[in-house]
Amino acid sequence: MEASEAKSKKQGASRLCCLCNQRRPVLKRPKTLQQICKECFYEVFEEEIHQVIVKNGLFKSGERVAIGASGGKDSTVLAYVLSELNRRHSYGLDLFLLSIDEGITGYRDDSLETVKRNELQYGLPLQILSYKDLYGWTMDDIVKMIGLKNNCTFCGVFRRQALDRGAALLKVDKLVTGHNADDIAETVLLNILRGDIARLSRCTSITTGEDGPIPRLHTYAYFKKLDYFSTECIYSPNAYRGFAREFIKDLERLRPRAILDIIKSGEDFRIATTTKMPEQGTCERCGYISSQKWCKACVLLDGLNRGLPKMGIGRARGGVNGDHKKETKKPASAARSLESKQCGSLDF
Ligand code: SF4
Repeated sequence: MEASEAKSKKQGASRLCCLCNQRRPVLKRPKTLQQICKECFYEVFEEEIHQVIVKNGLFKSGERVAIGASGGKDSTVLAYVLSELNRRHSYGLDLFLLSIDEGITGYRDDSLETVKRNELQYGLPLQILSYKDLYGWTMDDIVKMIGLKNNCTFCGVFRRQALDRGAALLKVDKLVTGHNADDIAETVLLNILRGDIARLSRCTSITTGEDGPIPRLHTYAYFKKLDYFSTECIYSPNAYRGFAREFIKDLERLRPRAILDIIKSGEDFRIATTTKMPEQGTCERCGYISSQKWCKACVLLDGLNRGLPKMGIGRARGGVNGDHKKETKKPASAARSLESKQCGSLDF
C-alpha cells in the first residue's frame, strides 16, 4: 500500500511543471526538454527575448521602430511581446505596426483585420501600404497574368521593397520582423539546397541591411509553428519548401532538437573570404539598393507593364540587367531558386 502511494505521489510530482513545480505542464520545450506550464512558458519566452535584446544592444532609447505585421501568429506575437517588453523594461521605443497589403482576396484582407485589432489592443499606430498603390498591381492581377508559377518571386521582391518604403514613410530607425523556428530551419535548409551562400549567411542573422537605409531586426521566436492557426496563402505553390518542411518534420519526430540544430548550423556557417559577394549599389530607376542597374522590383514591374512578365524572371529576352544571359548559363538552379520561394516574408 505504502509502495503504491509513493509511486502515485512520484507520478503526480513528475506531472508538474519543472520550473514552478505547481501547475500541470502543457508542453515540452525542444530547447531544454523541460516539461513546463503555460504561465512559465510565457515567462521564460518573454525573458529570453528581453535578454537577446539587451545582450545584442538591439535598441536605443528614443528610437522609432516599425513592426512588420502581417496579421499572422508570428508577427502578432512579436507585436505583443515587443510592446509588453517596451513597457515593462522602459526601452523608450516609439513602436508602429507596418502592414503590406499584397491584394490577395480572401487571404490578406482577412489577416489585415487581425492587424487592425492589434492596433487597438496594443495602442500602436498602424500604417498599411498596398501593392496596388505602390506598383499599380495587386497579386490577384499578377496571378491572373502569370499564373501560379513564379508568383512568389513577384510577391517576395515587392514585399521586401514595400516594407522598406513603409519604414521610410514612418521615418523609423529600425524595422523588426517575427518568424518561427520551423520556418527559419526550412529557410536554412533551402538556402543550402540552392547553394545560395549570400542568403544562407543572412537568414539566421539577427540584423540585416545595416548597409541599407533601414536596418532590419529578425526575431526568431524559437517556438513551434502552430499549424492549426496557419492560413496558407491561396497562391502558395508549396512545392520545394513543402518538401523541405516535410523532411524537417520527419527529422523532428526522430530528434526533437532537429529544428534548433539546423538553425544552429545555419548560424555557425562561415563564408570563406574568397567567396565573391554581389556589390551593392542603387537602382538607376527608383534609387532602391541594388547590385544591378535596375533593382529586381523595377525589372519585374517593367515586365508586367510591358505585358512581358517573364522578362523580369529571366525567361525572355530584353531584360535591362541582362538576366536572360545569366539564366541560360544556369537554367536549372536558377529556376529552382525562383520557384521555391514560398513566401517572400522569409526572403531576407
Ligand atoms: Fe505572396 Fe507568400 Fe502568397 Fe507567395 S505564398 S503569393 S510570397 S503571400
